Amino acid sequence: MHHDPRRMHTYGPAIDDLADQVLRYALDRVRETPPPLDEPRPATELDARAGTTITPDGLGGAEAMRLWSDVLARACISQDHPRALSFVPSAPTEASVLFDLVVASSAIYAGSWLEGAGAIWAENQALRWVADLAGLPEGAGGCFVQGGSAGNLSALVTARHAARARAAASGERLPHRWSVVASAEAHSSVAAAANVMDVDVIDVPTDPAGRMTGDALAATLERAGTEGVVAVVATAGTTNAGTIDDLAGLADVCDRHELWLHIDGAYGGAAMAAPSTRARFDGVERAHSLVVDPHKWLFAPFDAAALVYREPARARDAHTQRAAYLDVLHEPHEHNVWNASDYAYHLSRRARGLPFWFSLAVYGTDAYRDAVEATLATARAGAELVRACTHTELLLEPELSVVLFRRNGWDAADYRRWSDRMLAEQIALTVPTAWRGEPAMRFCIVNPTTTVADLELILDTMTGPA
Ligand SMILES: *Cc1c(COP(=O)(O)O)cnc(C)c1O
Repeated sequence: MHHDPRRMHTYGPAIDDLADQVLRYALDRVRETPPPLDEPRPATELDARAGTTITPDGLGGAEAMRLWSDVLARACISQDHPRALSFVPSAPTEASVLFDLVVASSAIYAGSWLEGAGAIWAENQALRWVADLAGLPEGAGGCFVQGGSAGNLSALVTARHAARARAAASGERLPHRWSVVASAEAHSSVAAAANVMDVDVIDVPTDPAGRMTGDALAATLERAGTEGVVAVVATAGTTNAGTIDDLAGLADVCDRHELWLHIDGAYGGAAMAAPSTRARFDGVERAHSLVVDPHKWLFAPFDAAALVYREPARARDAHTQRAAYLDVLHEPHEHNVWNASDYAYHLSRRARGLPFWFSLAVYGTDAYRDAVEATLATARAGAELVRACTHTELLLEPELSVVLFRRNGWDAADYRRWSDRMLAEQIALTVPTAWRGEPAMRFCIVNPTTTVADLELILDTMTGPA
């Protein structure tokens, strides 16, 4: 059967019902507090319940929406549930979610200023707010990328490009191998980036809280040397424990050796907005590059990571793509102000920073400060609860919003059994982790609607056997 080829693109009455359904669904989802937690289902079950969804004639909007809402959505965990406390959850504001619908409907190519000026201008204001939280200088800038992993890779590629250019300019022989320096508590994406780049990782031992200090870095560099070192990766909020590296001490050592300091604040960087924790980030203003994920603790929908460079020109040198059809974007012209594609390893990009920008514009930065403070207060209260319970032991004083603790007497299988039960009974998403080689429990609190009572409810389920 042949159809009018424009029928999927010409808005007409046939789509009105679907528009109502889709917008109603989105609005209901935003309004539902708390949202359903939901849980994964085996592929065989989804096969059986949803069947073949891609067909020559199409299912039609009503049926496709029914499959989504009845079957598939139910098999996706709502990361904004107040008791979704594992990995790093997400708690987008209402304004940010609603504006994501606007971004989706606007067909914006946000790689170049020529095509996406208004979007990039707004994204840059949001990036500037992050840069100001860190105290980075006026010329700092970058772009939004998919996540901390993409941000770390793009920053490290820039750092290597700069190191290579410096070596070439000074007539030095290029090193046999390049390397990045990071602690074992650095995020797994740092090792993944090093793997993609085919560079080595030099490991720096941490203190008992999992913190990399300036002294430890100095000792490591003393031993390993600095030849071929592309960058030092500091973590401002380790994912597993919420520990902030000794940023000022690390910056001193980097200065001494003229090394690039990349600060990975994908999870923790948000706490620069909170007066109660800001001082712990002292030294962050000396970063050459910085990553903060608004989709983690700055209340933006997936996926958005802010990537900011002290000297954005270094990123342009490393990342600008050249091609005949793109040359127009790089000629001197009033339209060529800031091409977001020049600051990471991407080209086409969604204006993924816009929901975050809109939310900041709607609520104001004080609301962000207060919301981050609220999550920190909940984490501190949670740590007190853990300390007060006779069957649990706090493993680390929370520096940010991760509560790391042990259930006395439980082994790895106990944690797993209990964790599976929490999800099966739709109480919480609380998967186990490990600390110093021992199984442990971890609450990561980034949702202002998570209450101390939520934590109490979960802790109560740990009194009995797993
Ligand atoms: C989550 C996280 C990352 C990875 O970020 P994605 O957005 O998941 O790619 C990197 N570094 C740290 C410290 C993180 O917590």
